[in-house]
Amino acid sequence: MFVEKLVCSKCGEEYSPNALYFGCPKCGERLDIIYDYDAISEVLSKELLERRRAGVWKYKELLPIADHSKIVSLGEGGTPLIKAKRLAGHLGLKKLYIKDETRNPTGSFKDRPIVVGISKVNEFGLKNVVIASSGNAAAALAAYSAKLGFRCVAFVPENAPNEKVAQLRLYGATVIRVRRGNTLGDPTVKMMELAHKEFGWAPVPSFGKFNPYQMEGPKTMAYEILEDLNYQVPDWVFIPVGGGGLFAGNYKGFKEFKILGFTS
Ligand SMILES: *Cc1c(COP(=O)(O)O)cnc(C)c1O
Repeated sequence: MFVEKLVCSKCGEEYSPNALYFGCPKCGERLDIIYDYDAISEVLSKELLERRRAGVWKYKELLPIADHSKIVSLGEGGTPLIKAKRLAGHLGLKKLYIKDETRNPTGSFKDRPIVVGISKVNEFGLKNVVIASSGNAAAALAAYSAKLGFRCVAFVPENAPNEKVAQLRLYGATVIRVRRGNTLGDPTVKMMELAHKEFGWAPVPSFGKFNPYQMEGPKTMAYEILEDLNYQVPDWVFIPVGGGGLFAGNYKGFKEFKILGFTS
């Protein structure tokens, strides 16, 4: 593994790459994962990447898993970048591509963060995972939990659509609807934090300070875009934003391929 250290984004405290962390043990805030890019560039090249099978784990040197036998996969990533000629013409653009993330195993990009987060949990032998989500992230965690035989508990808003809840139940997750009281903050997130504190269940949501490893998954989308465009940097990348994890991940991915000298 090429992780050098974990660094708290707030207090700056540094942590060993060989232990499992959720938030910063000192202040509770988000940990950033720092890699040794010099060492990575000695083993990883464009030619090597070209020979590997498409998917999230093709970039394993740039992901925070030490024991590769603990990686779980349902065939995530490697989604097509589709040239949208008619839509480009309609909008007056020369070139427009759409990255079709619905081709992921559970139908959204959330498989990218969740597969990295849960593989890290698997590396440390934990078997209970918990999430706060109204939809796609919980579906992803439920699916990978089914593959691993983990217990997955999903706290969802009380008005979560039945179709979404059905998808979670099909994968075998325990779904708990949480009523919104008069307190501030998202009550599903509070329940996830409580379950982590009280029972030691591993939080694997796709946002926030709760799991630093999942944040690395969406980087692979930027890598794939660059490879599909022959390492030509696109002028614009449009990314939908909820919590911002997908956006931050793509940013880090583009930046890393620049650091490695794969692109300008
Ligand atoms: C989660 C999600 C988003 C928002 O992603 P963030 O990482 O929370 O910003 C956008 N589109 C779809 C389909 C999603 O599932």
